Formats: sequence, C-alpha cells, structure tokens
Amino acid sequence: MAWPMGRSMLRPYKEFRRNSMELIDSHAHIDFPQFAEDREAMLERARAAGVTTLLAIGTGPGPEKLDSAIPFAGQHDWIFATVGIHPHEAKEVTPAHLDELSKLAKHPKVIAWGEIGLDYYYDHSPREVQQKVFREQMALAQQAKLPIIIHCREAWTDCLNVLEEVWKPTGLGGVLHCFSSTLEDARRGIDLGFLISFAGNSTYPKAQNLRDVAKALPLEKLLIETDSPYLAPQPYRGKRNEPAYVAEVARTLANVRNLSPDELAAATADNFRRLFRLARPRIFTAVESGI
Ligand SMILES: [Zn+2]
Ligand SMILES: [Zn+2]
Repeated sequence: MAWPMGRSMLRPYKEFRRNSMELIDSHAHIDFPQFAEDREAMLERARAAGVTTLLAIGTGPGPEKLDSAIPFAGQHDWIFATVGIHPHEAKEVTPAHLDELSKLAKHPKVIAWGEIGLDYYYDHSPREVQQKVFREQMALAQQAKLPIIIHCREAWTDCLNVLEEVWKPTGLGGVLHCFSSTLEDARRGIDLGFLISFAGNSTYPKAQNLRDVAKALPLEKLLIETDSPYLAPQPYRGKRNEPAYVAEVARTLANVRNLSPDELAAATADNFRRLFRLARPRIFTAVESGI
C-alpha cells in the first residue's frame, strides 16, 4: 500500500531529522468512545510525535461489533487492524461471531488476531469459558495464518501452558501485550515464539520489576505500546492515554537499556515489522539515503 509521500517528502531534510524517531504503537484501542470528540486530532498528535505505524485492536465493545478497528485501517495507510474477542466477553460468544471473525480476518489490513487470552483478575467470564473461547480463536487464527495478540492477567501459568500446547507448533508467533509477569515467564513466552510488549505501566515508579524484565530480555524481542485509552505513562498518569505517549514508554525502556530513545524506538519498530512481515515506510529509507 502506498505511503503518503507528497507532503512528507517535500519537507526539508532538517525537519526529517527532527521527526525521524520512528515509533510503533503496537496496541491501541482507537475506536473507544474516549476518543469520540477528538479522534482525528489524536491521530495527528501521534504522527507529530513520530508514530509511523499503529496497530488498532479490534475487540471493541464486544462481540456485537467485530469490525471495530477495520475502518481506521481502511482510512489510514499507517494503521493496521486486528480482529478478535477479548476474554472479558468470552461468555457472549456464539458460533456466528466466530464465523464473522474468520471472514473479517481476510481483510488485507488485518495483520493479527486479538486480543485473546485469559483474565483471572477481573473474571468477567467464567474461566472455563475463557479457556474454550481462547482455544477456538487460536484455531481460527491458525487457519487465517495470523499471529495472535495475547491478553493475560493473573493467569500466566494457564496461558503459557495452552500456548505451548496449541500455538507453539503453528510457528506463527505473536505478542504478549502489556506484559506484567516475571522474567521467567517472559523468557518462556519468547521460547514459544512471542515478542514481549511493554505499556505505560512500565513507567510507573513502583514498576521496577517490569523495567528489570525489559532490561534483561534480548532487544530484538521487545515491543512498545500504549493500550490507549488505558494505562497512561507516568507524566500523564490518571489521564486518558493516547498513541503519542508511546514515546514515554520508549524513553523509559531506553533509559534502562542505556540506549537513546531513537535507538530503542527503531529497534522495537524493526521487531514489529519482522513479526508482521511489513515493509519499512519509505520516508525513513529516504532519510538514511540522504534524499
Ligand atoms: Zn489487554
Ligand atoms: Zn488492549
């Protein structure tokens, strides 16, 4: 798909450099009602902050609306979409919902299935129902040949065990989003083919354990995300989160890894593109070749 060249390519080189931090927000709910008033302005702020690619999570309000993220991916060539049903809503799922998801997954801008998984913190759906719907969606994601985005909260042993049994053999990989567990669990996830994505909660003063995990993992296994509108990073904590703030997550992880924010952002962007087999936006190729 075409990268919007016109306006950007005409900017002077200096401005290219200033805006050349290349951030990818690997997880944002831009369809949520929190953005109803200023969604386009919010997306403009993301672009101005250097967000070159955004993965819009399509779980939406639940199974009554399964195509929540696709319209944004249709309107913006820098936005990609997922489809899936969140474990919170597992109890509402019918076979018709699953059929519909499989159809939507064929859209060319749908690059992942999710977020799916297990949430034993809220327990909004009975655990055995969450497990059943998780397995059903993994079977469909495998048919669609899509990586999966995993939501796991206080269910790490069950989650990693089922991923080992069901998902590892597919070789399709995925993302452990908003990672919140131990280094041991992160390493196990990597062994199962997953990248580990850190969200705004990794910037909180009490989250040294998460920063220690981010420091110890191989750089080529890290992603950054906002999980907007939730989990605003420290300077904005308590407010609505938005994709522009992924720069704060990059800064925090760069700091613990003794890298510049640009280097951390570039590495995580490369990791994202490698997993989803995406080409690099031409604007950055142009910067490097000095055009
Ligand atoms: Zn989640
Ligand atoms: Zn999410």
